[in-house]
Amino acid sequence: MIQDLDRDYWDIIIVGGGATGLGAAVDAASRGYKTLLLEQHDFAKATSSRSTKLIHGGLRYLQQGNIGLVTEALRERGLLCDNAPHLVHHMSFLVPLYHWWEGPFYGIGLKVYDLLAGELGLEPSRHLSRKQTLQAIPTIEREGLRGGALYYDGQFDDARLAITLAQTAVDQGATLLNYMQVTSLLKKKGLIEGVRATDLETGTHYNLKAKVVINATGIFSDHLRKADDKKAKTMMEPSQGIHLVLPASFLPRNTAILVPHTDDERVIFLVPWHGRVLIGTTDTPVKKASLEPLPLKKEIEFLLKHAARYLEKDPTREDILSIYAGQRPLIKAEGKSTAALSRDHVITISKSGFITIAGGKWTTYRKMGEDVINKAISVGGLPFRACITAKLHLHGYQKGLDLADHWSLYGTDAKEIKRLIRNNKKLSEIIAPHLPYCAAEVVWAVRHEMARSVEDVLARRTRTLFLDAKAAIEAAPFVARILAKELKKSAAWQKKQIQEFKRVAQNYLP
Ligand SMILES: Cc1cc2nc3c(=O)[nH]c(=O)nc-3n(C[C@H](O)[C@H](O)[C@H](O)COP(=O)(O)OP(=O)(O)OC[C@H]3O[C@@H](n4cnc5c(N)ncnc54)[C@H](O)[C@@H]3O)c2cc1C
Repeated sequence: MIQDLDRDYWDIIIVGGGATGLGAAVDAASRGYKTLLLEQHDFAKATSSRSTKLIHGGLRYLQQGNIGLVTEALRERGLLCDNAPHLVHHMSFLVPLYHWWEGPFYGIGLKVYDLLAGELGLEPSRHLSRKQTLQAIPTIEREGLRGGALYYDGQFDDARLAITLAQTAVDQGATLLNYMQVTSLLKKKGLIEGVRATDLETGTHYNLKAKVVINATGIFSDHLRKADDKKAKTMMEPSQGIHLVLPASFLPRNTAILVPHTDDERVIFLVPWHGRVLIGTTDTPVKKASLEPLPLKKEIEFLLKHAARYLEKDPTREDILSIYAGQRPLIKAEGKSTAALSRDHVITISKSGFITIAGGKWTTYRKMGEDVINKAISVGGLPFRACITAKLHLHGYQKGLDLADHWSLYGTDAKEIKRLIRNNKKLSEIIAPHLPYCAAEVVWAVRHEMARSVEDVLARRTRTLFLDAKAAIEAAPFVARILAKELKKSAAWQKKQIQEFKRVAQNYLP
C-alpha cells in the first residue's frame, strides 16, 4: 500500500478512516476512481468503534418527527442486512410497559416504524402480555409490569464492519493506509490540489496530489477546515456517550430493552452483544475532540441508576467488565442541546474546493458515501459513473451463517483462519479467558487486516478490550509476542507495546 504512494496523482483522496471515510472509499473505488484513504491512527479508532452497535432507523428521531432521517436509515438498514448478512443481524427490542397508556402509545409508534421500512422491513412489531414479556426477558423489573411492545432492528460489530469496509475498498482497487496523518493541505492558485501526510511509524513525509480531497475526519473535521480557511466557522459540536459492559446474566436471552424515557428525556438501551450486555448511552457536551475520551463518574452513575429501574437485580460498579466512551460528530445549531441536534449528515464545499462530510450515523454510512462521491465528481471534474454500492456485497459476504458463532463475523475468511489453525495447532490457543478469540485471529489480523499494534488487535480486530478490560490487559503480553514475531519487531518494541496498551486500557476499567 505504501508503495502505491509513488503514483503521480489520485482521483480522490479521503482523509479519515471511520465509518464515513471508509464508506466513501468503497463508493469511490467501486465506481472505478483511483482512491486513496489516509487514517491517522487505526481504522475506526475514534467514534466508529464506540457506538451502541445498532443498525437502526432510530425510534427517538421518529419521536422528534424527523421522518426523512428515519426512512432513509431504515432503507439503509435493509440494504446492509442484504449486503453484509455475516455482520448485521436482526435483534428483538422490548419497550417495557408499566402504565396503561404506554401500550397504545408505543404500539402505534412502532407500527409507523414498521411501515416506514416498507419492503426492506424486518419482522413486524407486536404487543406482548406480561407473561410473554417475562419469558423474553426473565430478568426485567417485575413490579408494576403490564407487558411489552416488541420490535426489530439491526445489530452489528462496528469495528469489524469498519475493517470489512476497508477490505471491500481494497478489493475494489482502493489504497488505504492507517497510521498516516494528514498534516496540511496542498494548494495551487488557491485551489486544493492534494495533502501532505506523515507516516507515523517511520516519520516519512509525502506530498500526495488528487483531483479532489474529502475531509471525513468526524469530530476532528474543524482542524482541516481551518487549515484550509483560517476564517472557517467552527462546525462541530461533539457530545460524549459512554457504555457500560456487564455480564450476560443481566439479559440472558437475546432480546434487548429500550428504556423509552430517561431523566434527561432521551432513550437508553440494554443490549446483548458478544455474550455481554451493553448499557448506553449518555449525552454529555464536550469542548475538545479526543481520540480516547474518558467516561465521567456522573455518566456511569446515570446509566447504573436507569438500568436498575428496569432490571430485577440492580447492577453495581462491581459488575462492570468494561466502560467505553465515544464522541458524536454533531453539527452545531445555535440554541439547541446536543440531544436535540440533528443526526442528518452535512456536506460542505469550501472556496478552494475542499469537501467536508460530517454528522450522520453508522447506519447511513453507505448513503453518506454515495452523496459525497457525487459531490466529489462535480468538484473534481471527474467523468460521471453511477453508484453501485446499494447492491455491492461486502468483503466476506456469506449468507445463512449461525450468527451466535463467533467465526461468522469473518464470513468467507473464517475458513482461511481455520486453515492457519490446521497447519499450526498452537494457533488455537485462546488469548483471554471466557472469550472466543484465539492466536490465529491475531496472526490473521496482522497479515490481512492491517493490524499494527496490540491495541489494534485487542480493541478493534477482536473486541477483547470492550468486552473485558482486565482480561485484555492480561492478554497484552501474549498478543505482543505474536505481533513481534509476525512484524519482525524487537523485545524492546514488545515491551513498549504492552506499556502503551496498558495506558489506554486503564480508561476502560470500572
Ligand atoms: C456513544 C455513541 C453511540 C452511537 N451509536 C450508534 C448506533 O448504535 N448506530 C448508529 O448508526 N450510529 C451510532 N453512533 C454514531 C456513529 O458511531 C457515528 O456517526 C460514526 O461512527 C461517525 O463516523 P466518522 O467516520 O464520521 O467519524 P470517526 O469514526 O471519528 O472517524 C474519523 C476518523 O478521522 C481520523 N482523522 C482525524 N484527523 C485526521 C488527520 N488529520 N489525518 C488522518 N486521519 C484523521 C480519526 O482518527 C478518525 O478515525 C453513535 C455514536 C456515539 C458517540
